[in-house]
Amino acid sequence: MGSPDRIRNVAKRVARWKRNGNQVVVVVSAMSGETNRLIALAKDVSPQPDERELDVMISTGEQVTIALLAMALKDIGVSAKSYTGSQVKVLTDSTFTKARILDIDGQNIQRDLDDDTVVIVAGFQGVDASGNITTLGRGGSDTSGVALAAALKADECQIYTDVDGVYTTDPRIVPEARKLDRITFEEMLEMASLGSKVLQIRSVEFAGKYKVKLRVLSSFEEEGQETMGTLITLEEDTTMEQPIISGIAFNRDEAKLTVLGVPDHPGIAYQILGPVADANIDIDMIIQNVGHDGTTDFSFTVNRNDFVRTKALLEDQIKPHVGARAVSGDNKICKVSAVGVGMRSHPGVASKMFRILAEEGINIQMISTSEIKISVVVDEKYLELAVRVLHRAFELDQAT
Ligand code: ASP
Ligand code: MG
Repeated sequence: MGSPDRIRNVAKRVARWKRNGNQVVVVVSAMSGETNRLIALAKDVSPQPDERELDVMISTGEQVTIALLAMALKDIGVSAKSYTGSQVKVLTDSTFTKARILDIDGQNIQRDLDDDTVVIVAGFQGVDASGNITTLGRGGSDTSGVALAAALKADECQIYTDVDGVYTTDPRIVPEARKLDRITFEEMLEMASLGSKVLQIRSVEFAGKYKVKLRVLSSFEEEGQETMGTLITLEEDTTMEQPIISGIAFNRDEAKLTVLGVPDHPGIAYQILGPVADANIDIDMIIQNVGHDGTTDFSFTVNRNDFVRTKALLEDQIKPHVGARAVSGDNKICKVSAVGVGMRSHPGVASKMFRILAEEGINIQMISTSEIKISVVVDEKYLELAVRVLHRAFELDQAT
């Protein structure tokens, strides 16, 4: 919803879905850049804006676009009505700026739909039990859309984004990356949490839990040129054999910390990571090396934004407390991951991945795996090379 033109374009597309016999609920987000603008304005007035008031403010971006879209629809002869989150009522908890949806009352909306009206709902916002306005975290309109689709038992939830689907990897790094026709919820969750920013992670979790059929589409395609985007499916839904690897994800926002020469005795992991968790720092990968001479080295990764803070915590408090020899850190690392549900039934994916990286002389610093994912930490300077060679080695550039 970047401009008046784009809003009219959205209205045309909505009108067509409606003409084709569908009942349509449209969840909109703010005009592009608007939420950022509002947050910057708040910070200009108060460096640490009060979160209740911040939500009152940043929810306004969506209040503007619901009205604009409703006007545009009425102008082309489509009956339409806008709703804020609290008018619907999208009930959330009271965690301002990252509230969770508890319940959606679909009654009013359903009445309008039965009345042949297109319903337009402000995404990203809700209301708590005391009537306070809340917001759902950045990108939260995705979650609003999925939650409404679940509440109204919609046939499909289509999320229009600035890309035309989910890709095997970022096409800016690998031009041969392909758009996937389908991907499973689990894979999508891994891709999202590993740095592919197509959808808000919570919306994918929600869709998986409530079995909402979800499709990612482009909001930029012109009428008549639309593609089918990417369908996010339940694994059971597909009769096709799953590809071994569906995508290569990566994340640059990583940093590694190592506590060297830690006495190797019970409780050490807790003594190191307990205070880190208490400081609200998220830990991702963890490695404890095999001990020798009664000591060991202990490494973990955090978000790069937390690097300085974590290093200071380790040096000032944890190192003297556990009696470690030294602390070292590296904030020039990245994480590269291969994701695919097909891995479950195909052994050897990890060894292939390690071989490909070795052939390029890329040193693996850390490894972590799940049933459907293998992640490695490597030097940031190898990120693009690693993504490219893995994408090719797993034949993701080839049509299936
Ligand atoms: N306008 C909100 C944001 O920028 C919600 C969204 O776009 O999904 O994060
Ligand atoms: Mg978005």
